[in-house]
Amino acid sequence: MLRETWAEIEPGRIADNLRAIRGTLPAGVKLMAVVKANGYGHGDLETAEAARQAGADYLAVAFLEEALRLRAGGATLPILLLTPIRPEQVELALAQDLMLTVTGAEWFRELRRQVPSLAGRKLRVHVKADTGLGRIGFRTEAEWDALVPWLAAPDIDVDGFYTHFATAGQADTAYLERQARQFAALMERSKASGIAIRHYHCAGSVAALRFPGLALDMVRIGAAMYGFYPGHLAPPVELEPALSLHSTLMQAKRVRRGDYIGYDNAYRADADEWIGTVPIGYADGWSQRMQGAAALVRGQRAEIVGKISMDQLMLRLPGPCAPGDRVTLIGRQGGERVSFAELAAHIDGPSQAITTALTERVAKIYASAKEVRCPWNNAYFQPQRQEPTVI
Ligand SMILES: *Cc1c(COP(=O)(O)O)cnc(C)c1O
Repeated sequence: MLRETWAEIEPGRIADNLRAIRGTLPAGVKLMAVVKANGYGHGDLETAEAARQAGADYLAVAFLEEALRLRAGGATLPILLLTPIRPEQVELALAQDLMLTVTGAEWFRELRRQVPSLAGRKLRVHVKADTGLGRIGFRTEAEWDALVPWLAAPDIDVDGFYTHFATAGQADTAYLERQARQFAALMERSKASGIAIRHYHCAGSVAALRFPGLALDMVRIGAAMYGFYPGHLAPPVELEPALSLHSTLMQAKRVRRGDYIGYDNAYRADADEWIGTVPIGYADGWSQRMQGAAALVRGQRAEIVGKISMDQLMLRLPGPCAPGDRVTLIGRQGGERVSFAELAAHIDGPSQAITTALTERVAKIYASAKEVRCPWNNAYFQPQRQEPTVI
């Protein structure tokens, strides 16, 4: 590995989280592991494999390309595409045995116009209802009724019927309850229409863990599998992040009170201080909103000062440090920790916004669960100790 900035990822931790989540679900509920966006930044194939080992029944991704990458990499579980594809792309989906999200009759009309025959194959679909997120899905009973004749065709297999919540992580549950009632009404309508539907599902991570009664036939688990959960809620099981992020001090210097640091003179030293330069910047996915957040050096917290630039950032060090010292941007050093909850609060976004932002410039190093018990054990995690998988 040439780069001195790397993410350490422990797929075994993802599997452990998934097993713990499975343990909270009513018996018989299927588990769909959501590995879109390169496994929330953890690596799609590695995450999909960890999910398979933990007993996931399905995988889900957002886009066709993501599913094709999984299939090319050897993933064999059923895969649901969470966003609709264009009818002319159906051949690709059929060839790779992918399940599609469909939202309206117009899509089927276009499909039949462009692909008059599926040549004896069955197209597996999940019908998506919009019960209040306002993103994708049919919204009214009339729109459902218009879908029914298309779904009843002998070459269409309705594997699922689902919706997604807007406010699962909020303390006030009134809107979620309204969406759940709307979904229940649409479920009734779908059952009355005589279409055979294999799985009803509505819950992502937070809804599944907060309200087991919403698990229905299947849950779609993304964030919690990676150890993420809203900071103001307590998960019913222990979830541990699987990713930590590290770099190396490139330069450490003493500056004088009043000296400026970084572009636009955005920081001015309050006193004589030690300033360290770290080779990670916004082009690595460490956005300028991370200014003011902490990193760890020599087991102590150090604030990111001045504007974060494309390739580098500066830290106000706790004292004299040396080039080559490890810098931990996410994770532990000794008794100190920079947590996802803390960083997520700092940028006012979810933890997955941090991991999915990490770019290809950041090397990924995978540790096997067998070899490493504690994901934050700095003593073990040396980048040289293991052949890195650079994606
Ligand atoms: C991303 C996504 C999920 C996963 O949500 P998490 O909160 O990360 O568990 C589930 N369902 C849909 C429709 C999604 O787009």
